[in-house]
Amino acid sequence: MDEMTQLAPYAAKADTSRGREYKEALPSQRSEYQRDRDRIVHCGAFRRLEYKTQVFVNHEGDMFRTRLTHTIEVAQIARSIARALKLNEDLTEAIALAHDLGHTPFGHAGQDALNACMREHGGFEHNFQSLRVITLLEQRYADFDGLNLTFETREGVLKHCNKERAKALGALGQRFINREQPGLEAQLANAADEIAYNNHDIDDGLRAGMISVEQLRTLPIFASYYDQVTDIYGTLAPRRIIHEVIRRMVNAQVNDLIATSKAKLKDAGVDSADAVRQYGAPLIGFSEEMGALNLELKRFLRDKLYCHYRVKRMTNKAAKVISGLYEAFIADPQLLPESAYGLAEDDNHRHHKNSTPRIVADYIAGMTDRFAIKEYARIFDPRELT
Ligand code: MG
Repeated sequence: MDEMTQLAPYAAKADTSRGREYKEALPSQRSEYQRDRDRIVHCGAFRRLEYKTQVFVNHEGDMFRTRLTHTIEVAQIARSIARALKLNEDLTEAIALAHDLGHTPFGHAGQDALNACMREHGGFEHNFQSLRVITLLEQRYADFDGLNLTFETREGVLKHCNKERAKALGALGQRFINREQPGLEAQLANAADEIAYNNHDIDDGLRAGMISVEQLRTLPIFASYYDQVTDIYGTLAPRRIIHEVIRRMVNAQVNDLIATSKAKLKDAGVDSADAVRQYGAPLIGFSEEMGALNLELKRFLRDKLYCHYRVKRMTNKAAKVISGLYEAFIADPQLLPESAYGLAEDDNHRHHKNSTPRIVADYIAGMTDRFAIKEYARIFDPRELT
Protein backbone atom coordinates (compact mmCIF):
# COMPACT_ATOMS: atom_id res chain seq x y z
CA MET A 1 0.00 0.00 0.00
CA ASP A 2 1.24 3.45 -0.79
CA GLU A 3 1.05 5.02 2.66
CA MET A 4 1.76 8.52 1.42
CA THR A 5 -1.36 8.66 -0.77
CA GLN A 6 -3.72 6.42 1.16
CA LEU A 7 -3.21 7.53 4.73
CA ALA A 8 -4.19 10.83 6.34
CA PRO A 9 -1.45 13.49 6.50
CA TYR A 10 -1.26 13.09 10.30
CA ALA A 11 -0.86 9.29 10.16
CA ALA A 12 2.53 7.67 10.86
CA LYS A 13 4.32 6.62 7.67
CA ALA A 14 6.96 3.89 7.65
CA ASP A 15 9.04 5.99 5.21
CA THR A 16 9.41 8.81 7.72
CA SER A 17 9.78 6.59 10.81
CA ARG A 18 12.38 7.65 13.38
CA GLY A 19 13.67 4.14 12.93
CA ARG A 20 15.13 1.36 15.04
CA GLU A 21 17.80 1.55 17.71
CA TYR A 22 20.08 -0.75 15.69
CA LYS A 23 20.20 -0.18 11.94
CA GLU A 24 18.80 -3.05 9.87
CA ALA A 25 18.27 -3.67 6.15
CA LEU A 26 14.80 -2.70 4.92
CA PRO A 27 12.28 -5.55 4.95
CA SER A 28 11.71 -6.88 1.43
CA GLN A 29 8.02 -7.77 1.47
CA ARG A 30 6.65 -5.92 4.47
CA SER A 31 6.47 -2.42 5.80
CA GLU A 32 8.58 -1.52 8.84
CA TYR A 33 5.48 -1.52 11.07
CA GLN A 34 4.37 -4.90 9.75
CA ARG A 35 7.79 -6.20 10.72
CA ASP A 36 7.27 -4.78 14.23
CA ARG A 37 3.90 -6.50 14.46
CA ASP A 38 5.34 -9.82 13.30
CA ARG A 39 8.23 -9.68 15.75
CA ILE A 40 5.82 -9.09 18.62
CA VAL A 41 3.64 -12.06 17.66
CA HIS A 42 6.72 -14.32 17.50
CA CYS A 43 8.17 -13.33 20.88
CA GLY A 44 7.98 -15.46 24.03
CA ALA A 45 6.34 -12.77 26.16
CA PHE A 46 3.46 -12.66 23.68
CA ARG A 47 2.83 -16.40 24.01
CA ARG A 48 2.86 -16.16 27.80
CA LEU A 49 -0.06 -13.70 27.66
CA GLU A 50 -2.25 -16.77 27.15
CA TYR A 51 -1.72 -17.82 30.76
CA LYS A 52 -1.81 -14.44 32.44
CA THR A 53 -4.79 -12.98 34.26
CA GLN A 54 -6.90 -10.19 32.86
CA VAL A 55 -9.40 -10.07 35.75
CA PHE A 56 -10.03 -13.76 36.34
CA VAL A 57 -7.14 -16.05 37.12
CA ASN A 58 -6.50 -18.59 34.40
CA HIS A 59 -7.54 -21.64 36.41
CA GLU A 60 -10.93 -20.11 37.34
CA GLY A 61 -12.38 -21.16 34.01
CA ASP A 62 -11.71 -21.55 30.31
CA MET A 63 -14.36 -19.09 29.14
CA PHE A 64 -12.92 -15.92 30.64
CA ARG A 65 -10.67 -13.44 28.89
CA THR A 66 -6.98 -13.93 29.34
CA ARG A 67 -4.43 -11.25 28.65
CA LEU A 68 -3.93 -12.80 25.22
CA THR A 69 -7.58 -12.74 24.15
CA HIS A 70 -7.88 -9.24 25.65
CA THR A 71 -4.87 -8.18 23.56
CA ILE A 72 -6.43 -9.62 20.39
CA GLU A 73 -9.70 -7.78 21.10
CA VAL A 74 -7.80 -4.52 21.61
CA ALA A 75 -5.89 -4.99 18.36
CA GLN A 76 -9.06 -5.77 16.47
CA ILE A 77 -10.95 -2.72 17.78
CA ALA A 78 -7.92 -0.48 17.25
CA ARG A 79 -7.44 -1.62 13.66
CA SER A 80 -11.07 -0.91 12.74
CA ILE A 81 -10.79 2.61 14.12
CA ALA A 82 -7.38 3.19 12.48
CA ARG A 83 -8.81 2.26 9.11
CA ALA A 84 -11.81 4.56 9.53
CA LEU A 85 -9.52 7.48 10.47
CA LYS A 86 -6.98 6.65 7.72
CA LEU A 87 -4.28 6.12 10.35
CA ASN A 88 -1.51 3.55 10.08
CA GLU A 89 -3.21 0.22 10.74
CA ASP A 90 0.01 -1.82 10.96
CA LEU A 91 1.53 0.49 13.55
CA THR A 92 -1.73 0.60 15.52
CA GLU A 93 -1.85 -3.19 15.55
CA ALA A 94 1.79 -3.49 16.62
CA ILE A 95 1.24 -1.14 19.57
CA ALA A 96 -1.98 -2.91 20.59
CA LEU A 97 -0.36 -6.36 20.47
CA ALA A 98 2.57 -5.19 22.59
CA HIS A 99 0.66 -3.04 25.07
CA ASP A 100 0.37 -5.65 27.87
CA LEU A 101 3.59 -7.64 27.36
CA GLY A 102 5.04 -6.40 30.64
CA HIS A 103 2.17 -7.50 32.84
CA THR A 104 2.99 -9.64 35.85
CA PRO A 105 1.04 -12.80 36.61
CA PHE A 106 -2.30 -12.14 38.38
CA GLY A 107 -3.03 -8.81 36.72
CA HIS A 108 -3.05 -5.60 38.71
CA ALA A 109 -2.78 -7.39 42.05
CA GLY A 110 0.50 -8.90 40.85
CA GLN A 111 1.78 -5.54 39.68
CA ASP A 112 0.86 -3.81 42.94
CA ALA A 113 2.59 -6.51 44.99
CA LEU A 114 5.75 -6.41 42.87
CA ASN A 115 5.77 -2.61 42.92
CA ALA A 116 5.59 -2.68 46.73
CA CYS A 117 8.49 -5.17 46.83
CA MET A 118 10.54 -2.95 44.51
CA ARG A 119 9.78 0.32 46.30
CA GLU A 120 13.41 0.88 47.33
CA HIS A 121 14.75 -0.26 43.97
CA GLY A 122 13.02 1.93 41.40
CA GLY A 123 9.55 0.36 41.64
CA PHE A 124 7.73 -1.81 39.15
CA GLU A 125 5.25 -0.59 36.55
CA HIS A 126 3.77 -2.92 33.88
CA ASN A 127 3.75 -0.27 31.19
CA PHE A 128 7.46 0.41 31.65
CA GLN A 129 8.05 -3.34 31.87
CA SER A 130 6.41 -3.78 28.43
CA LEU A 131 9.10 -1.47 27.09
CA ARG A 132 11.79 -3.49 28.92
CA VAL A 133 10.48 -6.66 27.29
CA ILE A 134 10.68 -5.28 23.76
CA THR A 135 13.95 -3.37 24.21
CA LEU A 136 15.90 -5.71 26.48
CA LEU A 137 14.45 -8.89 27.87
CA GLU A 138 13.53 -10.78 24.71
CA GLN A 139 16.72 -12.55 23.60
CA ARG A 140 16.04 -13.77 20.08
CA TYR A 141 18.27 -11.86 17.70
CA ALA A 142 22.00 -12.23 17.21
CA ASP A 143 22.73 -8.54 16.86
CA PHE A 144 20.73 -6.93 19.62
CA ASP A 145 18.78 -7.42 22.83
CA GLY A 146 15.02 -7.05 22.60
CA LEU A 147 13.06 -6.86 19.35
CA ASN A 148 14.62 -3.66 17.96
CA LEU A 149 11.23 -2.17 17.10
CA THR A 150 10.68 1.21 15.48
CA PHE A 151 10.60 4.36 17.56
CA GLU A 152 6.86 4.79 16.95
CA THR A 153 5.98 1.33 18.32
CA ARG A 154 8.16 1.84 21.39
CA GLU A 155 6.68 5.30 21.88
CA GLY A 156 3.20 3.80 21.69
CA VAL A 157 3.92 1.08 24.25
CA LEU A 158 5.17 3.60 26.82
CA LYS A 159 1.85 5.22 27.76
CA HIS A 160 3.07 6.98 30.85
CA CYS A 161 6.40 7.45 32.52
CA ASN A 162 7.69 9.46 35.46
CA LYS A 163 10.24 12.21 34.85
CA GLU A 164 13.10 10.28 36.44
CA ARG A 165 12.68 7.26 34.19
CA ALA A 166 11.97 9.50 31.20
CA LYS A 167 15.36 11.21 31.61
CA ALA A 168 17.13 7.86 31.41
CA LEU A 169 15.29 6.93 28.21
CA GLY A 170 16.76 9.57 25.88
CA ALA A 171 14.69 10.40 22.79
CA LEU A 172 11.89 8.04 23.82
CA GLY A 173 11.42 9.76 27.17
CA GLN A 174 11.65 13.28 25.79
CA ARG A 175 7.91 13.71 25.31
CA PHE A 176 7.24 13.19 29.02
CA ILE A 177 9.71 15.96 29.82
CA ASN A 178 8.37 18.29 27.09
CA ARG A 179 4.78 17.32 27.90
CA GLU A 180 4.07 16.29 24.30
CA GLN A 181 1.55 13.80 22.98
CA PRO A 182 2.36 10.45 21.39
CA GLY A 183 1.33 9.77 17.77
CA LEU A 184 -2.33 9.15 16.95
CA GLU A 185 -1.82 5.39 16.56
CA ALA A 186 -0.62 5.25 20.18
CA GLN A 187 -3.51 7.40 21.40
CA LEU A 188 -5.85 5.11 19.54
CA ALA A 189 -4.45 1.84 20.91
CA ASN A 190 -4.93 3.30 24.39
CA ALA A 191 -8.61 4.16 23.71
CA ALA A 192 -9.20 0.71 22.18
CA ASP A 193 -7.79 -0.89 25.34
CA GLU A 194 -10.38 0.96 27.41
CA ILE A 195 -13.26 0.04 25.09
CA ALA A 196 -12.19 -3.60 25.12
CA TYR A 197 -11.80 -4.11 28.85
CA ASN A 198 -14.84 -2.12 29.94
CA ASN A 199 -17.07 -4.22 27.74
CA HIS A 200 -15.50 -7.63 28.14
CA ASP A 201 -15.35 -7.23 31.91
CA ILE A 202 -19.15 -6.83 31.90
CA ASP A 203 -19.40 -10.06 29.93
CA ASP A 204 -16.94 -11.96 32.15
CA GLY A 205 -18.43 -10.49 35.34
CA LEU A 206 -21.90 -11.67 34.34
CA ARG A 207 -20.57 -15.10 33.35
CA ALA A 208 -18.88 -15.43 36.74
CA GLY A 209 -22.11 -14.45 38.51
CA MET A 210 -20.40 -11.55 40.29
CA ILE A 211 -22.56 -8.86 38.73
CA SER A 212 -26.17 -9.10 37.56
CA VAL A 213 -28.22 -7.71 34.69
CA GLU A 214 -30.38 -5.92 37.29
CA GLN A 215 -27.33 -4.07 38.63
CA LEU A 216 -26.14 -3.27 35.13
CA ARG A 217 -29.50 -1.79 34.21
CA THR A 218 -28.78 1.05 36.62
CA LEU A 219 -26.11 2.14 34.12
CA PRO A 220 -27.63 4.35 31.40
CA ILE A 221 -25.37 3.02 28.64
CA PHE A 222 -26.27 -0.60 29.41
CA ALA A 223 -29.96 0.13 30.08
CA SER A 224 -30.58 1.91 26.77
CA TYR A 225 -29.23 -0.98 24.68
CA TYR A 226 -30.78 -3.58 26.94
CA ASP A 227 -34.22 -1.99 26.38
CA GLN A 228 -33.54 -1.76 22.67
CA VAL A 229 -32.59 -5.43 22.36
CA THR A 230 -35.43 -6.75 24.52
CA ASP A 231 -37.93 -4.58 22.60
CA ILE A 232 -36.84 -6.10 19.30
CA TYR A 233 -36.09 -9.67 20.46
CA GLY A 234 -38.12 -10.21 23.62
CA THR A 235 -37.76 -13.98 23.75
CA LEU A 236 -34.04 -14.42 23.18
CA ALA A 237 -31.98 -16.55 25.55
CA PRO A 238 -30.44 -14.34 28.29
CA ARG A 239 -26.84 -14.90 27.16
CA ARG A 240 -27.70 -13.89 23.65
CA ILE A 241 -29.37 -10.71 24.90
CA ILE A 242 -26.21 -9.86 26.81
CA HIS A 243 -24.03 -10.39 23.76
CA GLU A 244 -26.35 -8.22 21.67
CA VAL A 245 -26.25 -5.45 24.28
CA ILE A 246 -22.46 -5.53 24.61
CA ARG A 247 -22.03 -5.62 20.84
CA ARG A 248 -24.14 -2.48 20.57
CA MET A 249 -22.21 -0.79 23.38
CA VAL A 250 -18.88 -1.50 21.68
CA ASN A 251 -20.27 -0.19 18.39
CA ALA A 252 -21.57 2.98 20.00
CA GLN A 253 -18.22 3.65 21.68
CA VAL A 254 -16.25 2.94 18.51
CA ASN A 255 -18.52 5.15 16.39
CA ASP A 256 -18.39 7.93 18.95
CA LEU A 257 -14.60 7.75 19.11
CA ILE A 258 -14.30 7.90 15.31
CA ALA A 259 -16.70 10.83 14.91
CA THR A 260 -15.29 12.82 17.84
CA SER A 261 -11.68 12.22 16.82
CA LYS A 262 -12.41 13.23 13.21
CA ALA A 263 -13.90 16.50 14.46
CA LYS A 264 -11.00 17.13 16.87
CA LEU A 265 -8.45 16.52 14.12
CA LYS A 266 -10.27 18.89 11.79
CA ASP A 267 -10.56 21.63 14.41
CA ALA A 268 -6.91 21.28 15.41
CA GLY A 269 -5.83 21.64 11.78
CA VAL A 270 -2.88 19.27 12.26
CA ASP A 271 -1.15 18.30 9.03
CA SER A 272 1.55 15.87 10.16
CA ALA A 273 2.36 13.28 12.80
CA ASP A 274 4.77 15.76 14.39
CA ALA A 275 2.07 18.43 14.58
CA VAL A 276 -0.02 15.88 16.51
CA ARG A 277 2.85 15.35 18.97
CA GLN A 278 3.23 19.06 19.55
CA TYR A 279 -0.48 19.73 19.88
CA GLY A 280 -1.41 20.60 23.45
CA ALA A 281 -3.97 17.83 23.99
CA PRO A 282 -4.81 14.33 22.78
CA LEU A 283 -6.76 14.30 19.52
CA ILE A 284 -8.23 10.81 19.82
CA GLY A 285 -11.08 10.81 22.29
CA PHE A 286 -14.74 10.35 23.13
CA SER A 287 -17.43 13.01 23.12
CA GLU A 288 -18.19 14.53 26.50
CA GLU A 289 -21.40 12.55 26.68
CA MET A 290 -19.74 9.20 25.93
CA GLY A 291 -16.86 10.06 28.24
CA ALA A 292 -19.35 10.53 31.09
CA LEU A 293 -21.13 7.24 30.29
CA ASN A 294 -17.79 5.43 30.26
CA LEU A 295 -16.78 6.94 33.56
CA GLU A 296 -19.95 5.61 35.17
CA LEU A 297 -19.25 2.21 33.66
CA LYS A 298 -15.69 2.20 35.00
CA ARG A 299 -16.89 3.18 38.48
CA PHE A 300 -19.48 0.43 38.38
CA LEU A 301 -16.89 -2.18 37.44
CA ARG A 302 -14.48 -0.96 40.10
CA ASP A 303 -17.10 -1.09 42.87
CA LYS A 304 -19.01 -4.19 41.85
CA LEU A 305 -16.53 -6.40 40.03
CA TYR A 306 -12.90 -5.54 40.83
CA CYS A 307 -13.81 -5.20 44.52
CA HIS A 308 -16.04 -8.29 44.61
CA TYR A 309 -15.02 -10.50 47.50
CA ARG A 310 -14.25 -13.42 45.20
CA VAL A 311 -11.92 -11.28 43.09
CA LYS A 312 -10.40 -9.86 46.29
CA ARG A 313 -9.76 -13.33 47.70
CA MET A 314 -7.93 -14.35 44.57
CA THR A 315 -5.92 -11.14 44.35
CA ASN A 316 -5.03 -11.46 48.03
CA LYS A 317 -3.57 -14.90 47.37
CA ALA A 318 -1.85 -13.63 44.24
CA ALA A 319 -0.14 -10.85 46.17
CA LYS A 320 1.15 -13.42 48.68
CA VAL A 321 2.59 -15.56 45.89
CA ILE A 322 4.37 -12.60 44.31
CA SER A 323 5.77 -11.13 47.51
CA GLY A 324 6.65 -14.60 48.85
CA LEU A 325 8.66 -15.39 45.73
CA TYR A 326 10.33 -11.98 45.76
CA GLU A 327 11.38 -12.23 49.39
CA ALA A 328 12.71 -15.77 48.99
CA PHE A 329 14.84 -14.84 45.96
CA ILE A 330 16.17 -11.69 47.60
CA ALA A 331 17.01 -13.54 50.82
CA ASP A 332 18.92 -16.13 48.80
CA PRO A 333 19.54 -15.30 45.13
CA GLN A 334 21.00 -18.80 44.70
CA LEU A 335 17.41 -20.05 44.60
CA LEU A 336 17.06 -18.39 41.20
CA PRO A 337 17.39 -20.73 38.23
CA GLU A 338 20.27 -20.12 35.84
CA SER A 339 17.84 -18.87 33.19
CA ALA A 340 17.08 -15.83 35.34
CA TYR A 341 20.80 -15.14 35.72
CA GLY A 342 21.49 -15.87 32.07
CA LEU A 343 20.47 -12.35 31.21
CA ALA A 344 22.61 -10.92 33.96
CA GLU A 345 25.82 -12.72 33.12
CA ASP A 346 25.97 -12.08 29.42
CA ASP A 347 28.80 -9.58 29.24
CA ASN A 348 28.17 -8.70 25.62
CA HIS A 349 24.93 -7.06 26.53
CA ARG A 350 23.63 -4.62 29.03
CA HIS A 351 22.04 -6.87 31.60
CA HIS A 352 25.06 -7.38 33.77
CA LYS A 353 24.42 -3.91 35.16
CA ASN A 354 21.11 -5.03 36.62
CA SER A 355 20.81 -5.21 40.38
CA THR A 356 19.61 -8.40 42.03
CA PRO A 357 16.18 -6.89 42.83
CA ARG A 358 15.71 -5.98 39.15
CA ILE A 359 16.75 -9.47 38.02
CA VAL A 360 14.23 -10.95 40.46
CA ALA A 361 11.51 -8.54 39.32
CA ASP A 362 12.14 -9.38 35.65
CA TYR A 363 12.01 -13.10 36.45
CA ILE A 364 8.74 -12.81 38.41
CA ALA A 365 7.11 -10.43 35.93
CA GLY A 366 7.79 -12.88 33.11
CA MET A 367 5.93 -15.72 34.86
CA THR A 368 2.48 -16.92 33.88
CA ASP A 369 -0.11 -17.37 36.66
CA ARG A 370 0.31 -21.11 36.78
CA PHE A 371 4.11 -20.97 36.64
CA ALA A 372 4.13 -18.52 39.57
CA ILE A 373 1.90 -20.85 41.61
CA LYS A 374 4.08 -23.84 40.74
CA GLU A 375 7.27 -21.94 41.52
CA TYR A 376 5.82 -20.86 44.86
CA ALA A 377 5.15 -24.51 45.70
CA ARG A 378 8.66 -25.52 44.58
CA ILE A 379 10.16 -22.92 46.92
CA PHE A 380 7.90 -23.36 49.94
CA ASP A 381 6.25 -26.81 49.85
CA PRO A 382 8.69 -29.51 51.00
CA ARG A 383 6.66 -32.20 49.21
CA GLU A 384 7.07 -30.46 45.87
CA LEU A 385 9.91 -31.64 43.64
CA THR A 386 12.21 -28.89 42.45
MG1 MG B 1 -4.77 -3.84 28.22
